[in-house]
Amino acid sequence: MTEKSRRAGTIRTEAVCRHYQMGDAVIRAVDGISLEVGAGEFVALLGSSGSGKSSLLNLIAGLDRPTSGAVIVNGDNLAEMSSEELSRYRRHSVGIVFQAFNLVGAMTLLENVELPMRFAETERGQRLALAREALQRVGLGGRLMHRPGQLSGGEQQRAALARALANRPSLLLADEPTGNLDSHTGNEILDLLHECNERLGMTLLLVTHERALAERYAERLVFLADGKVVGEQANVPAFQRVAAGGSGKGTAGPQTQEGERR
Ligand code: ADP
Ligand code: MG
Repeated sequence: MTEKSRRAGTIRTEAVCRHYQMGDAVIRAVDGISLEVGAGEFVALLGSSGSGKSSLLNLIAGLDRPTSGAVIVNGDNLAEMSSEELSRYRRHSVGIVFQAFNLVGAMTLLENVELPMRFAETERGQRLALAREALQRVGLGGRLMHRPGQLSGGEQQRAALARALANRPSLLLADEPTGNLDSHTGNEILDLLHECNERLGMTLLLVTHERALAERYAERLVFLADGKVVGEQANVPAFQRVAAGGSGKGTAGPQTQEGERR
């Protein structure tokens, strides 16, 4: 079975709101967003700081609950799930990468990547195999026993990506994943995210305030302002235009051919 054939990874939000009550004031961080993302799509969420990107992503990640409206992922409404169902959803269906890599400093990379699978009660041998495979996929097969402090920022973010994709979630969410990296290293991370989308069929929702980055990779751009969708446009990823033009720049090239689409 190919990963794409599962067709999991669809997202639909219906007039979803997340309002924060701050004393007498109400902050409408997410204010009636209806958005549809198809399985295997690569969508970029763009907007200036404070426009509600992270708040929306957190709702889709099941890290937060909407004030009103619905968030439907893989056909299930997250707003109606019990806390147990929601944590099962987070453990099995979704992988998240943040701007700050959020690795555990005292653990090796292998342990970091294995950790979420412990919570998911994956059997130990399988956990280790999946963690190794994920670290190899992001080019860190030679760093399994390193701790985060012994790595560069780009390597730490690659490890965080390995952790997010280790148990093959249908949905990959990335919140400003290149925000702490120089542009070259940032592009390497985006190449890897793109590879997960393309080869593993993971739906990819990328939050960024860098339009050039979104235009280089995403199939669709969605613009947020003040908690609302204010625009949307289809996009032909720039590297595909390059490939079609035959300049052979090839920066989005794959790093490994192993274990694809099982
Ligand atoms: P972005 O990720 O686009 O920068 P956020 O989703 O983080 O935007 O924030 C949207 C708005 O909601 C901002 O005005 C922010 O200050 C506010 N906000 C975010 N999280 C909270 C919170 N936990 N409590 C109160 N206000 C918040
Ligand atoms: Mg944010």
